[in-house]
Amino acid sequence: MLNRFGQDYFGVTINAETSPEIYIRNDLPKIVQKSVLAHEKEHAKNKGGYEWQSWIAGFKASPVGWALSVIMSLRWSRIKMYPILTAAIVMAIGFGLLMRFG
Ligand SMILES: [Zn+2]
Repeated sequence: MLNRFGQDYFGVTINAETSPEIYIRNDLPKIVQKSVLAHEKEHAKNKGGYEWQSWIAGFKASPVGWALSVIMSLRWSRIKMYPILTAAIVMAIGFGLLMRFG
C-alpha cells in the first residue's frame, strides 16, 4: 500500500480527526495484521495521536506480530524512509553477531 507520498505502509488511518477509517493490507500474516490494527485503532482513538503511542498499542496487542512487522519493514521501500534508524539496527545486529560468533 502506497500513501500519497509514495511510501509503503502496512496500515493507515484516514480522517482520524473526524470519522476515522482504517485500512490494513490484506497480504500480511494474521498476527501482523493484529498488531497493525491495534496501531491504527490507537491513531483513530487519539485523533491521530503520536506515532510512539500507536507503536506501544501495536506491541501490546501482539508482541510477536509487532516484532514481525518490524522485520518485514526491512525492505528498501521503507528503509529509505528511515535511513539512519536502519543503519543503526543493521550495525547493532552485526555487532551482536560478532559478539556471539566472532
Ligand atoms: Zn502510525
